[in-house]
Amino acid sequence: MTFQRPTGETATLSAELVVAADGIASTTRAQLFPDHPGPVYAGYLTWRGVVPAEAAADIEVGRSLVESWGRGQRFGIMPLTGGSIYWYATLSAPPNSHAHANIETVARLFRDWHDPIPRLIAATPLNSLLRHDIQSLETPLPTYASGRVILLGDAAHAITPDLGQGAAQALEDAATLNALATTASTVQSLTADYDQARRERTQQLARASAAAGRVAQWRNPLKVAFRNSLVWLTPRSSYLNSLNDTFSWTPETASARETVAATARSEAGN
Ligand SMILES: Cc1cc2nc3c(=O)[nH]c(=O)nc-3n(C[C@H](O)[C@H](O)[C@H](O)COP(=O)(O)OP(=O)(O)OC[C@H]3O[C@@H](n4cnc5c(N)ncnc54)[C@H](O)[C@@H]3O)c2cc1C
Repeated sequence: MTFQRPTGETATLSAELVVAADGIASTTRAQLFPDHPGPVYAGYLTWRGVVPAEAAADIEVGRSLVESWGRGQRFGIMPLTGGSIYWYATLSAPPNSHAHANIETVARLFRDWHDPIPRLIAATPLNSLLRHDIQSLETPLPTYASGRVILLGDAAHAITPDLGQGAAQALEDAATLNALATTASTVQSLTADYDQARRERTQQLARASAAAGRVAQWRNPLKVAFRNSLVWLTPRSSYLNSLNDTFSWTPETASARETVAATARSEAGN
């Protein structure tokens, strides 16, 4: 494999397996799939900030993530260990818009929102503000393995953050690779098994996440009223059940695959 060092010099390395985890703008992906369109803008941007524990002492928030929805805007609040509070704000807007916006812009956009949203923004240190256009791999890759190279994480399946699953899926990829590597007989079987174990799940989650984000970012008042009524009418248990598949995951192992194959063989024999 030939690669470029950060200094610009080109070097060559021999390896049995290359794991490319070079993120959403993966150059490895672009090399393996030159015709793939790459990541596309999801239609909204986010700001993120952290209120330090001292400044958060008087701000009451729940014990888990809470997300409030408006028209083309959302605000999420998440308490962190140690007393600090993480928040994120979204806005449906053209790509690269508000590029030079500061915390006052965010405060203005959310000034009429419920407590403690304006207070959280006001208590956020200016240097902790992050702004990102949200992108994802809308066109799924045909495979996560090519020869002795596999793609992992955002390089393989950059996903919108609407289900909070981007980094989680990268970790699942790594856990799967680790589990499969302990029993794989060849690099070829390892890469094929990895692709089979990861592609369907991650691409299904990417579709679900993008769909959730589209609905959550609606701006049209009629659509928003319809959406909000539906959310009120959906029982909490249905919502929690819909998350079961996402959260009850364990890494696939050779023995688990053999059990599935044996069950299929026995069912076919009956
Ligand atoms: C606003 C926002 C909110 C999010 N919220 C969540 C969430 O709540 N939960 C969740 O699970 N995920 C979330 N994510 C997604 C999560 O951040 C990503 O899915 C995760 O970081 C992907 O990990 P990765 O290792 O694949 O890629 P990255 O974290 O992008 O890491 C890739 C690394 O490769 C390096 N690199 C790239 N090219 C080269 C090169 N040529 N040579 C050497 N190094 C290189 C980069 O510098 C980088 O360090 C969010 C993302 C955004 C933008």
